[in-house]
Amino acid sequence: MDFGRTMKYQREAEPDWPHQLKQLPGCERLFSCIQCGKCSGTCPLSIYMDYTPRRIINLVREGFRNEALSSKTIWLCASCYACAVHCPQDIHITDVMYMLKREAIQHQMYPKRFPIPVLAREFYDLVRKRGRSSEFWLVLRLAMKSNPLILLGMVRTGFWLIRTGRLSLRSERIRGVHQLRRELATPKEAQ
Ligand code: SF4
Ligand code: SF4
Repeated sequence: MDFGRTMKYQREAEPDWPHQLKQLPGCERLFSCIQCGKCSGTCPLSIYMDYTPRRIINLVREGFRNEALSSKTIWLCASCYACAVHCPQDIHITDVMYMLKREAIQHQMYPKRFPIPVLAREFYDLVRKRGRSSEFWLVLRLAMKSNPLILLGMVRTGFWLIRTGRLSLRSERIRGVHQLRRELATPKEAQ
């Protein structure tokens, strides 16, 4: 848990942002939060988060976009829905987390070497380029962009898996990958 966050000034906020989010599915009741903290108390992962779910909801509705999008919290959320089930205001907190993840990836605002968003980004890139994810290349790209030193501890196991045919170095590609790319394109990319 990070207790070292600095106090934010209102002038750093983007007040229009939460009003845009409110239009998105799952975020409609964002402004109904009464800050009761039930979500944080229920969340099994809140002790590992830099901001608890209650604080994330508060940051979002106050327009602190940078803090919310660059937080580790949204990536630690395991989508268990416990917070949403217990919220007295019927706020779909899990959906808000999903929406924040999407925006963080889109604007590359996630914590740069934090493995979860790096994995999500690299997986998407591999599938978009080749239509398939390959374990070897995915792990290699994840390690190179998060913590290359972890590769040292994997070398022996990696060789053994390759020798026994359980890990392939081949990077496979599906036919018609262009069609898949069209399907995956955002409305903006498709224009
Ligand atoms: S449980 Fe719901 S109302 Fe209570 S703090 Fe969390 S989001 Fe807000
Ligand atoms: S959905 Fe995410 S934020 Fe909500 S309780 Fe589960 S892990 Fe915590």
